[in-house]
Amino acid sequence: MEENVCLSQEAEPPGQHAGMTGLALDELIQHTLPSSHVAPATTGITSCVFIMPSRGASTCKPSPRSQAFRKQYFPEATAAEWNDWRWQVRNRITGVEMLSRILWLSPEEEMAIHLRGEAIPLNITPYYASLLDPMDADQPMRRMVVPVMAEFERARDESDDPLAEDHDTPVPGLVHRYPDRVLFLVTGFCSTHCRYCTRSRMVGRHEEIHADRERWERAIAYIENTPTVRDILLSGGDPLTLPDETLDWLLSRLRAIPHVELIRIGTKVPVVLPQRVTASLCHVLKRHHPLWMSIHFAHPEELTFEVSQACNRLADAGIPLGSQTVLLAGVNDNIETMKRLVHDLVMNRVRPYYLYQCDPITGSSHFRTPVSRGLEIIEGLRGHTTGYAVPTYVIDAPGGGGKIPLLPGYVVGHDENHILLRNYQGRTFQYPDPAATAECEGRV
Ligand code: SF4
Repeated sequence: MEENVCLSQEAEPPGQHAGMTGLALDELIQHTLPSSHVAPATTGITSCVFIMPSRGASTCKPSPRSQAFRKQYFPEATAAEWNDWRWQVRNRITGVEMLSRILWLSPEEEMAIHLRGEAIPLNITPYYASLLDPMDADQPMRRMVVPVMAEFERARDESDDPLAEDHDTPVPGLVHRYPDRVLFLVTGFCSTHCRYCTRSRMVGRHEEIHADRERWERAIAYIENTPTVRDILLSGGDPLTLPDETLDWLLSRLRAIPHVELIRIGTKVPVVLPQRVTASLCHVLKRHHPLWMSIHFAHPEELTFEVSQACNRLADAGIPLGSQTVLLAGVNDNIETMKRLVHDLVMNRVRPYYLYQCDPITGSSHFRTPVSRGLEIIEGLRGHTTGYAVPTYVIDAPGGGGKIPLLPGYVVGHDENHILLRNYQGRTFQYPDPAATAECEGRV
């Protein structure tokens, strides 16, 4: 039976606890993960287990599934520790020994973990590990986080930096490609590594740049001195692995720049570490509106009880939520899976935003699908479900061309006075458009 966990006290907002107000970034970095945190204290009261959240502790209620997993594989951990995102980060699975206690590893997986080479390191939160099928190496969730030998094959046209981000980097950690917005890579740290990561050249390699003062100051100075920048996307690595106080400091600095209108955060934390979405974190984020968030979802089974709570908490903080999904062979490359995913996202107040064709990152050929598969999926969604649930399918053009949207061929022709359109049922319709002949040249 599920443990009765009473959670009646919200975490203390950052800046209101003793000693944190007015700290310099250097001091805040001392609070940076993964090494400098101690487990929170818990207090048992009355007949139910009463968890008194420490500052920033989670109020995420665990599912029976993750509680059973904790008891089996982390029997020394209390429910409160499991629910503490710092405990989850400290106890990441990074080696074959621990992983093989949880999963029956195929010889191919075992060899890939041992070989390691230049591939992105193995790194999985205990929470996300609880979602993996112990026996099935082809389970979609498992394919996304457990290495296989195919990662060591380099196919033609693959590259370590397929989007040429390094080329558009005026100062370290800042990509300025589009005139009005920048990508600010605030950390190289992720709590769980995706095997197809576009930034595998930097993620998990240099944890010392988790919150590097000098890099951040140079990036902030660049934004201050570039008045065309009205929109900042914080990414990495994962910005939500930063401590509340550090995030608050950074968001405050960016918000103080008069020409910055919009701040966005790209993250997978609500999916792989939902315990991180605490009341305290939401309190920080809602102070810096307008703030939007793109969450990296890949499969409907990622929308667990815990993740649902995290999404609702963020949405209740007034943060518009979008999902970014990479189209992955053997994971989500069919209409049925994608339809389940987008429906579950909408039910959790997350708008499917982008469906990405997988970037040609080195060692990713086993994840890439033909482009026609993506178009089939969009065709299987458009008209068959609400438009809110249909993401924009894009290729992020190799070499730095930016995102290019792809649509199935809905414009099928034109005559003198009409444009001819195909609907979701395959039926053709005319729309009166005298200018169609001239204008359709570039669209058909
Ligand atoms: S969460 Fe994003 S940055 Fe981190 S490993 Fe996955 S794809 Fe890469």
